[in-house]
Amino acid sequence: MSNVPVAVVTGSNKGIGFAIVRALCKQFPGDVYLTARDPGRGQEAVAKLQEEGLHPLFHQLDIDDLQSIRAFRDFLKEKYGGLNVLVNNAGIAFKVRDTTPFAIQAEVTLKTNFFGTRNVCTELLPLVKPYGKVVNVSSMASNSALGGCSRELQQKFRSDTITEDELVELMTKFVEDTKKSVHEKEGWPNTAYGVSKIGVTVLSRIQARMLNEKRKDDHILLNACCPGWVRTDMAGPKATKSPDEGAETPVYLALLPSDADGPHGQFLSNKTVRSW
Ligand code: NAP
Repeated sequence: MSNVPVAVVTGSNKGIGFAIVRALCKQFPGDVYLTARDPGRGQEAVAKLQEEGLHPLFHQLDIDDLQSIRAFRDFLKEKYGGLNVLVNNAGIAFKVRDTTPFAIQAEVTLKTNFFGTRNVCTELLPLVKPYGKVVNVSSMASNSALGGCSRELQQKFRSDTITEDELVELMTKFVEDTKKSVHEKEGWPNTAYGVSKIGVTVLSRIQARMLNEKRKDDHILLNACCPGWVRTDMAGPKATKSPDEGAETPVYLALLPSDADGPHGQFLSNKTVRSW
């Protein structure tokens, strides 16, 4: 088994994830895994970074597919005995002009952004080694969507005692409510992406709390962040940041020094803790 430190970035064949891998290849003292659901797109991305003189490794990972997540988990366990850095970056967003019915958009968006990210965490968090770092790429869209929730929902999402099961129940209810066209009446905002990212931010707060309760001595730091508005296929060419600039906050959190005791359980943008 290798003792080399290992960093993993989900959804990193393009966009911000690709830029995070590029930065980690330059700064992380160990193996950096570029992962992608499609091996062809993944290998192509690896080749691009190799042309820049960088040496990422590749593994297939589709966060919508539990088998794929578990195969990667077993690989990491066997080869490295765990992992040191996990960046949950993979995500999707329907375009504003997309005419897919809202209930479908809600189901598909939540499936990847919330449930897929959660499944990766369920399988990989137990393998994160002491002094490890976990970064969940959320969005400022989670903060604005929170503002659009009813007072009752806001209270639940800001609660310091909400459990992962309760969060899963709420995310499931959102999807069900959109199918019955009652989501607005039930206090939800009209944004599937925003609600999925509420899920990611609140999940991060819960996971950080669980680490405090169960693995305090392991000094693992786990945070959510917004990369900013970044020129990628998701956000389009008018966005203000380059992918490398968008990678800065996730990479800062992935490389927090081993003697840092924070941030932990926070939501950050531009390397600054934001209120939730
Ligand atoms: P992007 O260019 O569309 O890239 C998204 C990446 O996620 C792609 O590599 C995509 O792979 C991958 N992905 C999607 N579903 C996946 C799955 N089931 N399993 C594995 N990988 C999957 O988007 P981006 O702008 O770089 O976004 C990266 C993250 O930042 C997302 O979580 C996004 O919500 C967040 N974010 C972005 C912005 C922004 O302005 N761009 C702002 C706030 C937050 P394929 O190539 O196979 O589709």
